[in-house]
Amino acid sequence: MLSVAVIGAGVIGLPSALAIQEELGPKAEVIIFTDKLSPQTTGDVSAGLWSPYLLQNTPIDQLTKWSKATQDYILKLWKNGDAKVTGISLQLIMALSTNKNYKPPEWIKISLGHSEFSQDQLKYYIERYGEKFTGGYAFVGFIWEPTKFLPYLEKKFKDRGGQIRMRKVDNFAELSHFDVVVNCSGLNSRSLVPDPSVHPIRGQIARVRAPWQKHTFMLDTEPGNYIIPNEDCVIVGGTHQENDFNIGIYDSDKNHILTGCRKYLPSLTKAPVIRDQAGLRPGRDQVRLEIEDRKIGEKVMKIVHNYGHGGSGVTLSIGCALDAARLVKEAAGFAGQSKL
Ligand SMILES: Cc1cc2nc3c(=O)[nH]c(=O)nc-3n(C[C@H](O)[C@H](O)[C@H](O)COP(=O)(O)OP(=O)(O)OC[C@H]3O[C@@H](n4cnc5c(N)ncnc54)[C@H](O)[C@@H]3O)c2cc1C
Repeated sequence: MLSVAVIGAGVIGLPSALAIQEELGPKAEVIIFTDKLSPQTTGDVSAGLWSPYLLQNTPIDQLTKWSKATQDYILKLWKNGDAKVTGISLQLIMALSTNKNYKPPEWIKISLGHSEFSQDQLKYYIERYGEKFTGGYAFVGFIWEPTKFLPYLEKKFKDRGGQIRMRKVDNFAELSHFDVVVNCSGLNSRSLVPDPSVHPIRGQIARVRAPWQKHTFMLDTEPGNYIIPNEDCVIVGGTHQENDFNIGIYDSDKNHILTGCRKYLPSLTKAPVIRDQAGLRPGRDQVRLEIEDRKIGEKVMKIVHNYGHGGSGVTLSIGCALDAARLVKEAAGFAGQSKL
């Protein structure tokens, strides 16, 4: 039997562990090593909007492929009637831009239906908000709430015989007895790999009570505002502060978030704040999804890296997990010790 260790149980680790179970079936024993589970992971701060964001130079063909695979998976859950238990909602998502070089994003073509705002519609928003909007679009898309789907995936993983060990891994060598190790440690890859190019992109949000708000609104001005309904609250944001490690709350950010979001959607003016939160997105020049051969003493360890998903961990989760599982299979074969 092939032994596989997965480091991390966030929106990248859990789907990867499940995809490996699915790809290899009973031929593999999969164990997750993690120091945090939901609701303590980065994804638990996020609203779970399906929309590629803060991915820097990740190639568009890969980004599109991974996002599409995730969307297909969510669509399947949704069609199966599992929306409630896995935290899915299908919403109208609208985005406005003030970027002088505005172009609609490439990935919009794979959404479940989209349209660009006409000049007349833009004029309406320019007059309504007093901002120089240069373009915008609307699409039909999913919100997939990590606080709901992470516990669901964790149960599925355990039901299939997967084990979870609550502990911090300080060095890959600790897991050198496994055939393949899959690194889904997010921002912590900075010290674990170590990969200094992984850096925090801090995001602060507030959860407010506004059950009447049913569509998502995004603005790409700096520092930007967004409004994303979840089932039990509405997430208002946001910030993206590079290289800021603080997960405490800044009053200035809170003020920016509440003032901005209330300006764009005045119906939120009296919506009470339930909770303020901040999280650190794992920023990187591009997602790292590849096999590394690492020499540990006499042994060459096979490590599959899957980290650096920036502001899009939920959006890319399933697509990257499927590729990570294929890489595990490949790594096990190349190791010359294939037990498959
Ligand atoms: C405010 C905010 C809003 C966001 N909104 C969205 C959104 O709407 N849509 C979207 O797609 N994305 C969004 N994101 C981005 C998304 O949340 C991240 O890309 C994603 O959570 C990263 O997931 P991860 O599993 O790589 O990392 P993490 O969630 O940080 O998980 C890492 C896991 O590895 C474990 N770990 C790390 N190091 C070790 C170690 N040494 N030993 C053992 N275990 C270890 C941790 O315990 C944890 O379980 C948002 C992020 C923020 C902060």
